[in-house]
Amino acid sequence: MSRTPIIAGNWKMFKTVSEAVSFFEAVKGKAEVAGVESVICAPYTTLPALVEAAKGTSIAIGAQNLHFEDNGAFTGEISGVMLNDLGVKYVLIGHSERRQYFAETDETVNKKVHAAFKHSLVPIVCIGENLEEREAGTTKEVCRTQTVAAFQGISAEQAAQSVIAYEPVWAIGTGKSSTSADAQDVIGYVRSVVADLYDQATADAVRIQYGGSVKPNNVAEYLGQQDIDGALVGGASLEPDSYVALVEGA
Ligand code: PEP
Repeated sequence: MSRTPIIAGNWKMFKTVSEAVSFFEAVKGKAEVAGVESVICAPYTTLPALVEAAKGTSIAIGAQNLHFEDNGAFTGEISGVMLNDLGVKYVLIGHSERRQYFAETDETVNKKVHAAFKHSLVPIVCIGENLEEREAGTTKEVCRTQTVAAFQGISAEQAAQSVIAYEPVWAIGTGKSSTSADAQDVIGYVRSVVADLYDQATADAVRIQYGGSVKPNNVAEYLGQQDIDGALVGGASLEPDSYVALVEGA
């Protein structure tokens, strides 16, 4: 089954509105490669300008988080209603920095996946083991637990549209990356977990990215692996030339 490769930049807490718009002007037309989906997950404050700039292009805009309730007394939070209203298409859910610094749990991740679908957003569900878990040999167990929890109550049709990002926590922003063979091994396993949860057709449809110190010079190697359908990229997505090279490299 052929799945469209997806390169998603995660800008984290970088870029003002004017920086975001200049970036977009620089990549427009270049980070638009036939057969590759290009997504920029940007800070909330830049989203209206980016959605406007992206009109008429094939680059999709994503948020980096959402609250699972539609509205209410949740100071500082942004809901799926609000993101949908802006015209955002994707949303990162359960990034390891959110799990680590903002106490997100498998339970809140699951609620957020439900909220994303409720508001027609495509979730990019982040999973992955930390260094301790890696060294203890529990990588696959951790990825299974996180995947099963994230998709609880989610239909096969919704799961098939989702994107999963396998990001070993020890490889994020560290310059250390998983080998492509190791990443393939875990991602192939995660696909089998989706098959167990649903069926083979759903597992064949879901796109699974690798993330963790992906750069223009190693992106092709990851995407050359059978089960790796793209990359979620932090640091190397911040500069226009580098981002274009990532999309071209896919
Ligand atoms: C990320 O932020 O999801 C990420 C993978 O970061 P980096 O590419 O910098 O490791």
